[in-house]
Amino acid sequence: MLTANLQHLDKDYDVVVVGGGPAGMAAALGAKETGAEKVLIVDREKEAGGILLQCIHPGFGLQHFREELTGPEYAERYKQQVLDAGIHVATDTYVLDIDQDKQVKLLSGTDGVRLINTKAAVLSMGARERTRGAIRTPGHRPAGILTAGLAQKFVNLMGYLPGNKAVILGSGDIGLIMARRLTLEGVEVKGVFEIMPHANGLNRNIVQCLHDYDIPLHLSTTVVDLQGRDRLEKITVAPVDSHFQPDLSKSWDIDCDTLLLSIGLIPENELTRRLKIRLDPVTQGAVVNSQMETSKDGVFVCGNVVHIHDLVDFVSAESELTGRNAGLYVTDQQPPGDNIRLVPGENVRYCVPHTISSDRTHTVYMRASQPMEESILRLGDVYEKKLRYVVPAEMINLKVRPRFLQNFHGETLKVDILPVDNT
Ligand SMILES: Cc1cc2nc3c(=O)[nH]c(=O)nc-3n(C[C@H](O)[C@H](O)[C@H](O)COP(=O)(O)OP(=O)(O)OC[C@H]3O[C@@H](n4cnc5c(N)ncnc54)[C@H](O)[C@@H]3O)c2cc1C
Repeated sequence: MLTANLQHLDKDYDVVVVGGGPAGMAAALGAKETGAEKVLIVDREKEAGGILLQCIHPGFGLQHFREELTGPEYAERYKQQVLDAGIHVATDTYVLDIDQDKQVKLLSGTDGVRLINTKAAVLSMGARERTRGAIRTPGHRPAGILTAGLAQKFVNLMGYLPGNKAVILGSGDIGLIMARRLTLEGVEVKGVFEIMPHANGLNRNIVQCLHDYDIPLHLSTTVVDLQGRDRLEKITVAPVDSHFQPDLSKSWDIDCDTLLLSIGLIPENELTRRLKIRLDPVTQGAVVNSQMETSKDGVFVCGNVVHIHDLVDFVSAESELTGRNAGLYVTDQQPPGDNIRLVPGENVRYCVPHTISSDRTHTVYMRASQPMEESILRLGDVYEKKLRYVVPAEMINLKVRPRFLQNFHGETLKVDILPVDNT
C-alpha cells in the first residue's frame, strides 16, 4: 500500500522504517524476509527513492543487479519489490519523533499528527550536504552559491539552470557528476578546486566526468574570496600548503556566476540523538553491532545515516542485512551477541560495524585516512589481504569468516592498512 493519508495506516507495526531511500526499501524487504509481518516505510518526500531520484546519470547497480542503471531505475526496481511484498509506504510524511517505548510520531501536511507503535525501528534517514557555513568561505554573500546536490535537483528534476559560468569547490562525487551535467547542459565549467592533495570522489567519476570533458581539477587549491553584490561575479582561488594555509601571493581570479559546493555529507541523525543512541564521532553515525543494531534495543540503522557510502550497491547489501536482523528481533530469533570489538588502527579512519561475532561471516566496511599504493589490510594478526591501492574516497569492504576469529572471543582487534614494506 502506498499512501499519503495517515488514516490508512494501522496502529501497530512490527517494523517501522524511517526514510524510503535505497537503504530504507532494502531494510523493509529484509525484515519481511525474516518474518516481520507488518512493515511500514515512512518518507517525507512525495515518492520513495531518496537521493536516487535526482541522480539521472548511469552508474548504479553494477554490483547488485549486475547491470548499469540510472538512479531512478535502481529505485524503481526496489519500489516494485516493496509494493509486491505488501509493505506499507507512507509518503509526504515526516517522522517527528520516536520515544523510548518505540511510539512513532508522524506528521503529514494533510492529516496532522498520528502516533503508531512499533516493535522495532530502522533508521535510514540518509545524509544532507555540508553548506558554506561549515567551511567559513570568506567574501560576500551574493546569489549563485549553492550545494552541488541542490543544483542537481534544480537541473535534473525542476529544469532550472543555476547559472552560465560555474566553478566547483570540492571534488566529492556529487560535484564531479554536476561538472559533467552542467557541461552537457551548456554551462561553462571552469574547474574543480580541491583543498586536499587528493581527489575526494571515485576514480571512475574523475575519469568519466572531468577527464572526458577536459574540465581541470586543481588539487591543494581553495577559494579565498567571493565577489559580487546581488549575484556572484568573480571568485579568487589560491594554492594551499601542507597545513591548508592559502598562499595569497599565488592567487588568481576566475569570472563566474555560480559556485557549487561539494564538500561532504553529514548523516541526518537528529532522531538518533533524540533516542540518546551512542554515536561515533568519526562517522557521525550510530555505533552498531554486527546486526546493525544501535545502543538502543530494537533500533537498527543502515545506509548514509550510519556512514557515508559512495556506491548504492553497498547501501543495499548493508540495509538488507539490517532489515533481516530487525525481522529476527521481532520474531525472537536474534542470533547471539558479538564478542569481538574492532578498532581502527593505522591509516584506517573508521570500521563499521564496531563489533562482530566469532560465529558468523561479516562484511566490515572501512575507509583509509590517506591514499596509499600497494598495501596490506590487516585485522589483528588473524587476517591479511593485499590491496592494490587505497584512497579515502573509495570505501573498502572486507569479508571476515568465522574460521579466522575462533580464538579471539572477548578481544579487541585492530584494523590497519600498512605499506607493503612495513608489514
Ligand atoms: C548526488 C549523488 C550522486 C550519487 N551517485 C551515485 C552513483 O553514480 N552510483 C552509486 O552507486 N551511488 C551514487 N550515490 C550514492 C547513493 O545514491 C547513496 O549512497 C544512497 O542514495 C544512500 O541511500 P540512503 O537510503 O541511505 O539515503 P537517501 O537516498 O538520502 O534516502 C534517505 C531518505 O530518508 C528520508 N528522510 C530523512 N529523514 C526523514 C524523516 N525524519 N522522516 C521521513 N523521511 C525522512 C529522506 O527524504 C530520503 O528520502 C550518489 C549520491 C548522491 C548524493
